[in-house]
Amino acid sequence: MVTPKYLTGDKPAIDEFIDRFDTFLFDCDGVLWSGEQVYPKTVETIQMLKDKGKRLVFVTNNSTKSRAAYKQKFDAKGIPCNEEDVFGSSYSAAIYISRILKLSPPRNKVFVLGEAGIEHELASCSIPFIGGTDPSLRRDMTPDDYTSIASGAALDPAVGVVLIGLDFHINYLKMSLALAYLRAGARFLATNGDSTLPSHGTLFPGAGATGAGIVRAWGAEPLALGKPSQAMMDAVEGKFHVDRTRTCMVGDRLNTDIQFGIEGGLGGTLAVLTGVSKKEEFLGEGKEIVPTAYVDMLGDLLG
Ligand code: PLP
Ligand code: CA
Repeated sequence: MVTPKYLTGDKPAIDEFIDRFDTFLFDCDGVLWSGEQVYPKTVETIQMLKDKGKRLVFVTNNSTKSRAAYKQKFDAKGIPCNEEDVFGSSYSAAIYISRILKLSPPRNKVFVLGEAGIEHELASCSIPFIGGTDPSLRRDMTPDDYTSIASGAALDPAVGVVLIGLDFHINYLKMSLALAYLRAGARFLATNGDSTLPSHGTLFPGAGATGAGIVRAWGAEPLALGKPSQAMMDAVEGKFHVDRTRTCMVGDRLNTDIQFGIEGGLGGTLAVLTGVSKKEEFLGEGKEIVPTAYVDMLGDLLG
């Protein structure tokens, strides 16, 4: 049985742990903040790591915001961060589409089920898309829609990928179009599969939940490109040139963040107990996803 080291209140162990790494990959929601509330001592802890010369990369599964929008979020919360150090699941999906799928005409468009964050990141990689926040799709199906979707007349033949993320305006029309594109041969991708979205002290449906209807209709899972996808890890490694053995993933969710670090062969993982996962989920016999160490909250790293 692997027992994670509890670092809270143990200054020598904290120092020894921090010294083992040059780079820290940070989950955001549940580690740095929850909704509008920044956890105590977050800013000081980030600054302490920067002062020690550590490279910090902020790796979030939130697809609704682009890297630029995340930078604004950091600024509003007073947390030091450079835009190029943010890596979101929308950007991960855009990189995968441009570098791995390498779509080319005549089937190079993406049908998006999601928010502006996905659109901005696709645009940043010069990937053409439709759907997304298009207001003409925010309505009920009409008899004409049924007919034109069934005949294919409503479909853009250039669509080669369906990309789903959290869509606050998901409806039957968008689901029907997504399914039609899949049936016409489009690849099926997702930004992330988070079942829930912690907010306001409770849980709301996440991208994995809002997309579940399409998965059920299609009968197969999409390739999800946020944490714990190793496509995202490879892209992070490629962009930041990190030495995995000297890199630590810090996160609050075992099946995304900690799994991401373990599968990626990182030197360590640090679970923070301010978010989704509870310590009972990794302490004790027979636990599948076990971090290297854990703290009650990020600020505990200040000792
Ligand atoms: N997905 C959405 C839409 C979110 O708003 C959030 C958190 O704000 C997440 C996923 C999880 O983000 P993280 O990976 O930073 O915890
Ligand atoms: Ca999180």
